[in-house]
Amino acid sequence: MDASCYVNGKWVEADARFDVFNPATGEVVGTAVDAGSNVATAAVDAAAAAFPEWSATTAVERAAAIRRISAALLANKDEMASLIVAEQGKPKGQADFEVVYATQWLDWFAEEGRRAYGEVVPTHMPGKRLIVQQKPLGVAVAITPWNFPVAMIARKLAPALAAGCTIVVKPAEQTPLSPASLFEAIAKAELPPGVCNLVTSLEPEPLAPALLEDPRVRKITFTGSTEVGKLLVRASATNLARISLELGGQAPFIVFDDADLNAAVAGVLMSKFQVNGQSCLCANRIFAQESIAGEFTERLTEAVGKLTVGPGTSQDTDVGPLIDDRGFAKVSAHVADAVAGGATITTGGSRVDSLSGGYFFQPTVLSGCTDDMLCVSEETFGPVAPVLTFADEETVIRRANNTRFGLAAYVYTSDLGRALRTSEALEFGMVGVNDPMPASPTAPFGGFKESGLGREGGHDGLAAFMEKKLVSFIA
Ligand code: NAD
Repeated sequence: MDASCYVNGKWVEADARFDVFNPATGEVVGTAVDAGSNVATAAVDAAAAAFPEWSATTAVERAAAIRRISAALLANKDEMASLIVAEQGKPKGQADFEVVYATQWLDWFAEEGRRAYGEVVPTHMPGKRLIVQQKPLGVAVAITPWNFPVAMIARKLAPALAAGCTIVVKPAEQTPLSPASLFEAIAKAELPPGVCNLVTSLEPEPLAPALLEDPRVRKITFTGSTEVGKLLVRASATNLARISLELGGQAPFIVFDDADLNAAVAGVLMSKFQVNGQSCLCANRIFAQESIAGEFTERLTEAVGKLTVGPGTSQDTDVGPLIDDRGFAKVSAHVADAVAGGATITTGGSRVDSLSGGYFFQPTVLSGCTDDMLCVSEETFGPVAPVLTFADEETVIRRANNTRFGLAAYVYTSDLGRALRTSEALEFGMVGVNDPMPASPTAPFGGFKESGLGREGGHDGLAAFMEKKLVSFIA
């Protein structure tokens, strides 16, 4: 596929294109327009021009438009999922699910937009009436990552449109093809020109001033690394654009001695090895209580050893390739550092030699890890499960909280009191108790500390694209 930009309801070319690679083979799978700042400015122009009319539509009309996008996405699920596999590398089943997950966000916000209620507030003065309205912020700019190239856009686009905002999307340079396919669905849904715009580029920096510092941009919404998130906060200060950030995580996964160990092993498989460990929610530090650590590590090792590594196109594949050489180098360095520090590789630990064309790393379990190892103290973003042991509740909570991140945490226990105590004490935005996937379009999604600002999902996800206006009457 060759992806173009989508601006003001038209597919737009530019002088240059860049190649998009398949991380499973290293082959070129398509090209995308390498837009310059002129295209980015044209997209902001279009979004600003479309805003008055779009924000004046009723919530019911906007809901219908969002549902048309969702239906067009589902109708094209197979092709879109195949593009995700080709440029991102995840197994086809996970890519299919990503498209469905994207429609869940669209469907939820299509409905939630109809509940953007205001308030009539009691007043202190006779004859005075205070009415609070919810107003869309204006033009939104969304910058998204490569690990869920379609779903992360849907998570931002759906509430923006539901609120009455118009939007410019800049997807990750590794994965522009499936976002272009999403915009084909948007084109089919026949929204007014300029409401949704797509700008692709190889380097994000040249577009940043046009997208982030234009005074007409009133909202910046970002999913990606904490380092880039901090740069965007600085850029947002130029015009005090509102900003939402979904950033890195470093999730603890705590297995107590009273846990169902089979469920805990299944939980690690899902949390750690889905998308090859390249998810912000994925378990990064696995704490097993001393009395069960040996048995748990044995069972985990056996289960991880059975995972099939391969290209996402193969039906048998559980774990695909890493996204690129940078990701591969980071995973390798983290494993080497752990081994140098005294950890033991119980399964995996190196490149998959038989799949030399891509960035394939064996699903890995490390035992005997300590808190200072890179694979524990940093976000690895790869298929490496470091197991640490702990003695008691108090110390594991202290160690789990000892991080600058605070996105997701997991607790496996069969003791209700322990589940309540530990979930309350963990300083994380989302805690899964015997649940490896604590995320839903209907609930707040986001992190404490340096894992982000604001929440996507639920009521908060819509509020993030709206501003309250007080109208005070004397009558
Ligand atoms: P990244 O920050 O490098 O890139 C993300 C996006 O930002 C891309 O579109 C990229 O082009 C753009 N970008 C990079 N530098 C920029 C700049 N200077 N100005 C403007 N835009 C810029 O992140 P990544 O490595 O692609 O993604 C992985 C990170 O994303 C991980 O840390 C992961 O935890 C995080 N993530 C978080 C969530 C969440 O919901 N909290 C979800 C998925 C991924």
